[in-house]
Amino acid sequence: MRKPFVAGNWKMHGSKASILSLVTGLNAKADQLGDVDVAVCPPAIYIDYTKRALSNDVIALGAQNMAVEPVQGAYTGENSVEMLKDCACDYVILGHSERRAIYGETDAEIAQKVKVALSAKVTPILCVGETLQERESGVMESVIAGQLDAVLDVVGIEAFTDIVIAYEPVWAIGTGVTASPAQAQEVHAFIRGKLAALNSAVADKVIIQYGGSVKPDNAKELFGQADIDGGLIGGASLNADDFIAICKAA
Ligand code: PGA
Repeated sequence: MRKPFVAGNWKMHGSKASILSLVTGLNAKADQLGDVDVAVCPPAIYIDYTKRALSNDVIALGAQNMAVEPVQGAYTGENSVEMLKDCACDYVILGHSERRAIYGETDAEIAQKVKVALSAKVTPILCVGETLQERESGVMESVIAGQLDAVLDVVGIEAFTDIVIAYEPVWAIGTGVTASPAQAQEVHAFIRGKLAALNSAVADKVIIQYGGSVKPDNAKELFGQADIDGGLIGGASLNADDFIAICKAA
């Protein structure tokens, strides 16, 4: 049995005031979360502030990105994995489609970041997913396979016991259009099957989150699918009641 994992990706949202109010809401209901792993991923500059505001130890912390350079140095504007650890991050989102599309992160770069995170014992949440055009032109599986292969080539299949995968169809992110539970399950099964062909024990263990317009009213059905082990939540993670409701659905 895989323990579901729900992570909130706050993206570039928030202020000290709004984060304090959000975390106060999460603190108030943290005892209702049940048997699910939960993390929130604030903007890097607010990670420590969020840590101080959290009054429970059931909600873990993650970052939304990190430098590929493993050690500190002259890399203006970057945050290293050691800095994330120092600020109590257990997780780091890597390869989010916004990083790929807006900041030009390549499969190869993302694979290196995964390797650096793993060596520092910070769990990568590796995002994969296709655009609408890729889905409609029939190359969805090869796109996702390519995103996974880039990482497999660098870290190997065994490392996937320490990696969380987030399947996020790009067309469903922030659009209000969710993949249907059947559409999502189909891709999750494809991902798990691809890993199982290399090592079935690893494939059985790996957590595969779904992300893309998850809301309290669609979470239960999505998370009820055989290969969906929780979610990566954007917009709805900015509202404490919605986020808690989604966690409880997992
Ligand atoms: P969304 O974002 O829930 O707002 O669609 C998900 C994500 O990008 O991680």
